Formats: sequence, C-alpha cells, structure tokens
Amino acid sequence: MKGKNWREYQPQRRRKKKHGRRKGGMLTKLIMAVLLFTLGYAGFQIYFHYSKPYVVALDPGHGGIDSGAVGVIQEVELTERTSAKLAELLKADGRFRVVLSRDEGEDKSITDRNKLFQRVKPTLVLSIHANSGEDPAALGFECYPSPPGKENHEESLAFAQYIASEMEAAGARLRGTYGVRFGYYVLDEDGETSKLLVDSTDTQIYDYDTFGMLKNMTCPAVLVEQCFVTNQEDVEEFGTDEGCAKAAQAYYQAICKYLEDMEKDAEK
Ligand SMILES: [Zn+2]
Repeated sequence: MKGKNWREYQPQRRRKKKHGRRKGGMLTKLIMAVLLFTLGYAGFQIYFHYSKPYVVALDPGHGGIDSGAVGVIQEVELTERTSAKLAELLKADGRFRVVLSRDEGEDKSITDRNKLFQRVKPTLVLSIHANSGEDPAALGFECYPSPPGKENHEESLAFAQYIASEMEAAGARLRGTYGVRFGYYVLDEDGETSKLLVDSTDTQIYDYDTFGMLKNMTCPAVLVEQCFVTNQEDVEEFGTDEGCAKAAQAYYQAICKYLEDMEKDAEK
C-alpha cells in the first residue's frame, strides 16, 4: 500500500513539475514568436526597401485650384493622368519606388514639392507639364533638363535626350534642337518675371533661376512639356487617356534605358 501511494504521488508531482515547465515554455515561445515576427517584419521592410534600387520622384504639374494652362483640356488633367499611368508602370516593374510630389487634386507649392523631393533622395526627378500657345497651330514636345552650370546638368541633359528620343519614337514632333531646351526666369527692371527659353545648343551659363522643380537636386532632373493643350491634334495624340498612357510608356522606356545604360557605363 505504501509503495502504491508513493507511485500515485510521484507521477502527480512529476506532472505538476512538467505542467510548471510547460507554462514557462509557453511564455518563452510567445516571446520568441513576437521577437521572430518583429525581426522578420523588419527584415521584410529592409528587403522591400533595398530590393527596389531606384527612387523615381514624379511631379504632376499644377493641381487643386491651379489648373495650369487651359485649352482643349486643362493642363492638370494631363499631368495627373500621365503621372498616374507612369507610376503604375514603374510599380509593376518592381525595380522602382515611386514618390509623387502631391496627391491627385491637391494644391501644393513648388517649394513644398521640391523639399519633399530633396528629402527622399531620388534617383531621378521628372516633372510633367503641358504647353500652351496663342497660335492654335503650335504643337510638339519639348523638355527642360537642369541647365548648364548646375552640378546635375550633364546627367539631366542625358536623361532629357533619352526622354525626347522615346517621345519622338511615340510620334511626337520635337521642338527646337531634338526637343531639349533650357528654361530660366528673368527678372526685369520693374521686378516682373518672365521666362527665358533657350535652345540646348546655347550652353552658356546664365545667372538666372531655372524652374523650381529642377533646383536643389543632385540627381538627373527634367521637366517635360508633353504637348500643347491649345492644339486639338496634339491633345488627341498626347492629352487624352490613351495619349497620356502613350506618353507615360515613352517616359517609362526612357527611364529604363537611361538607368540600364548608366549601369553598363559604371561597370566598364
Ligand atoms: Zn505647367
């Protein structure tokens, strides 16, 4: 009887001990699970960030109460349509992180957009606009890289040439010399600002401000004037839903080709 009692007692003690140990094990497992999850999540975030080596800063020109130029369509319709389509193409590619300067419909100052772009340290900056002219016959594509004298001038000019060439392949008529110009703001004696647009063959360094979105950037930065919103034919080609999609495709190809060629050059 004594022995039996002892045996009956022992397993109970053991069970109790085991039970106690299991309790501690559960807590450790829980802590480990939380830790692993946290580490895994952080790892995933780091992977997600670095697996997308390129940051493209996209600026849909104008917005909010500022509709930009008005013609057959409003300029802002074109800038938002094209940016949205281009962002979609870049995201689907998998190599790009897209930073938009503003949300759709939002009004935002050039200074705030520019500050945001400075913070995100982009690989490329593309600001999308459209032209307008008093002459309804005026049409075509032109783009404005960071001008001579700026530290990012050379690479901006190269990027602009890729963009213009892809737009030409998409059917756009290039204005000026190969569709590339430099833009400045000139202050006259009365304190009035006017735009000075020079051809890309004019490589002298002017002591004028360039377009706000191209300033303070260390990466290639280009502003495009996609087409003339005041020209029916131009809008049909590059201002409608399909037209903006076509332009976005051209910009996407220019971005890919430019970066791929730069990488090839760097490997040499
Ligand atoms: Zn504009």
